Amino acid sequence: MHRITVIGGGFAGLTAAITAAEAGAKVTVYEAHHTLGGRARTAEGPYRTNEGPHALYSGGPHWAWLRQRDLIGPLAPIPPLEAARLRLRYRGVLRRTPPFALLKLLRRGLPQAPVDVDFMTWATGIAGEEGARAAAHYSAVALFHHDPGALSAAFVQERLRRATKLPPEAHYPRGGWATVIDRMAARAWNLGVRMETLSRVDRLDSRAAGAPVVVATSLDAARRLLKDDSLTWSSGRTALLDLAVRTRRGDAFVVSDLDATGWLERFTAQDRSLAPAGEQLIQGQIPVAPHESRADGIARAEQLLDLGFPGWRGRVTWRRESMANGRTGAVDLPGTSWRDRPAVDRGAGVYLAGDQVAAPGVLSEVSFNSALTAVSLALGRHALDLKGA
Ligand SMILES: Cc1cc2nc3c(=O)[nH]c(=O)nc-3n(C[C@H](O)[C@H](O)[C@H](O)COP(=O)(O)OP(=O)(O)OC[C@H]3O[C@@H](n4cnc5c(N)ncnc54)[C@H](O)[C@@H]3O)c2cc1C
Repeated sequence: MHRITVIGGGFAGLTAAITAAEAGAKVTVYEAHHTLGGRARTAEGPYRTNEGPHALYSGGPHWAWLRQRDLIGPLAPIPPLEAARLRLRYRGVLRRTPPFALLKLLRRGLPQAPVDVDFMTWATGIAGEEGARAAAHYSAVALFHHDPGALSAAFVQERLRRATKLPPEAHYPRGGWATVIDRMAARAWNLGVRMETLSRVDRLDSRAAGAPVVVATSLDAARRLLKDDSLTWSSGRTALLDLAVRTRRGDAFVVSDLDATGWLERFTAQDRSLAPAGEQLIQGQIPVAPHESRADGIARAEQLLDLGFPGWRGRVTWRRESMANGRTGAVDLPGTSWRDRPAVDRGAGVYLAGDQVAAPGVLSEVSFNSALTAVSLALGRHALDLKGA
C-alpha cells in the first residue's frame, strides 16, 4: 500500500486525502488549526458566517465530484421573491437590470478573450468604456480584486461568464460551507485517513519520512515551509463586513456595485439557519487598492447598505470587520494564465495543492483541481519508483 502525507486540512487537503485513500493509499493529514476546513470553515455560534461571502459554483469539476460522493448535502435554494431583490448600483442609484452595454459582453458566441491583453482594453472594444467598466466591477464577485479591468482579459471573461450564467451557478450548502467540510472529513475518516489536528508541520522530513507529500496549505505557508521564495502569485485584497440586522421587509438580497468593486449579500434570504429568528445575516466584500485601508472598504460597504437596506444602522444586532489579504485565490495579470503559476510538482516527491498554483478553475476549483493532479502525480511517481527499485 502506498503512503502519502498531506499537509493542510482545508478543501484542497481533504480532496487530496479522499482521492488518495480511494486509490488505496494510506493517508495522513496534518492540520495546524484545531478544526479542519481552512478558509472553507463556517463560524460556530448564532451567526454562521463563512469567511466572507461564499458560493459553490455548480459549473466546476468539484461540483460533480462532491455530488457523486454525496458530500454536498442539502442546499439552500434562493426563493424566487428574494432572487428578484438583486440590485445593481449604477451611476449612483440602485437598479434591477444591468446596463445594456454590459450585456454585450455576455453575448453567446463572443470569441474567447485574449490572455495577453487587459480586460478593460479588450472589453471596451466590444461594449464601450462604461459597459466594460461595469462588467469589470461585476466580475469582482468572483475575483476579490480592486481593479479587475487591469487583469488578463481571458481570466476575467471566464469569471464574468460563470458569475452571470442563468440559471445561476452559485449554490449554497445549508448551514454554510462547514457542512461540506464535515461530510468530506467523515468520508476521509471512513476511508481510513488519519487526520491530526493542532498539528503544524514546520519541517518536511520529520513527518513525511520517505512518503510523497502534498503541501495543501496557502501559497504563503507553502513558501515558508518549503523555503522557496519563488512560491508567489498575485491575489486580491478585500475588506470583509459581516452584519446582522433585525428583519425588515423590503431589504435587498444582493447589492452589486457597478460603479466600483463591491458585493453585499443577505445570506439568510436563502438560509434562515444562519442567524437567530428575526435577524438577517449580511456578508459583504469590498476589494480595496494597495493604498486603501480596511476603513475605506467598509465606508464603501456602508454606502451600499444605505442604498439596499434602509434604516440598517438602527437595526444592527451584531457586526464584524476584517481584511482578506492574499486569501482569495489567484488572479492572473495580462500575459499570464494558470499555467504560469507555481507548478504542482516541486520535485523530490513534494507536490503543491491550493488556489494559487498551476491548475485551472475559479477560486476553490483551483484547490480541487490541483489536489487531484498532486495525488495522481504522487501515486503515479511513487508506483514508478517502486517498480524501478
Ligand atoms: C473572502 C473569501 C471568499 C471566498 N469565496 C469563495 C466562493 O464564493 N467560492 C469559492 O469557490 N471559493 C471562495 N473562496 C476561496 C476558497 O475559500 C478557497 O479557495 C479554499 O477554501 C482554499 O482551500 P485550500 O485547502 O486550498 O486552502 P486553505 O483553506 O487555506 O487550507 C489550508 C490549510 O492548511 C493549514 N496549514 C497551513 N500551514 C500549515 C502547516 N505548516 N502545517 C499544517 N497545516 C497547515 C491551514 O490551517 C488550513 O486549514 C473565498 C475565499 C475567501 C477568503
